[in-house]
Amino acid sequence: MTHLLTLDNVSKIFGGIRALSNVSLSVPPDRIVGVIGPNGAGKTTLFNVITGAYRATEGNVVFDGKEMTQWPSHRIMRAGIARTFQNIRLFGGMTVWEHLLVAQPHQGNMLRLVLPARFADPVAWRRAEEALDIFGLGAYRDTVARTLSYGLQRKVEMARALTTGPKLLMLDEPVAGMNHDEAEELRLLLLRLQGQGLSILLIEHDMPFVMRLCHQLYVLNFGSLLAEGTPAEVRSNPAVLDAYLGSETAC
Ligand code: ATP
Repeated sequence: MTHLLTLDNVSKIFGGIRALSNVSLSVPPDRIVGVIGPNGAGKTTLFNVITGAYRATEGNVVFDGKEMTQWPSHRIMRAGIARTFQNIRLFGGMTVWEHLLVAQPHQGNMLRLVLPARFADPVAWRRAEEALDIFGLGAYRDTVARTLSYGLQRKVEMARALTTGPKLLMLDEPVAGMNHDEAEELRLLLLRLQGQGLSILLIEHDMPFVMRLCHQLYVLNFGSLLAEGTPAEVRSNPAVLDAYLGSETAC
């Protein structure tokens, strides 16, 4: 199968710390893939390497048939990868609608931060409307995003990522801070997006959520891959139980 994203023996070393060590993984098209593992295992570093925030010390990253290991992050975003962050990153004072307009690459340069939303181009406008609709944020369109509940702010971040028109959506702990109903609603929404052809790579500690959503899982531990497989395979892997899931009661 041709994969959308492939990492081949990727390592990232900070000074003496080997945050990632020979990690190989792949994301097939139209699939939801999860990355799990204990705190400090290297999950966010992995996201940072894929999105160009960090350069891999060794190894290759190929996306959509292109070797992009050394690409800067804006080029990677234009190639079709969008992400959200573990710590929500929303701009102070900007409404939900403004967030959805400014994220889009074809909206030009920094001017998009100061131009009133009415000057947005029609494509950006349509994408923002779609994202607003998909995430059920219509009622909050003109609300300053940072004043919303934590769960809604997470949705704004995801909607913003979606407006860039990605082929791969990368979510860093998307249900952190969400209650059970919000998480379940998001799970169904992500399945719907996957059904429409989007690939999703996510980091998450909420094991019931991960196990019910992902087609494939990778388990990181101390920067190395400990296991990979379907949720059922990973759940019954003794090494994973020992290093990680043994301490998670609810999966
Ligand atoms: P968590 O689940 O707590 O978010 P994680 O699996 O995402 O953890 P990372 O944040 O990727 O783990 O960290 C992996 C290791 O790399 C840690 O030892 C961390 O201290 C180290 N690390 C990450 N970023 C840097 C950096 N910029 N400089 C130095 N060390 C770093």
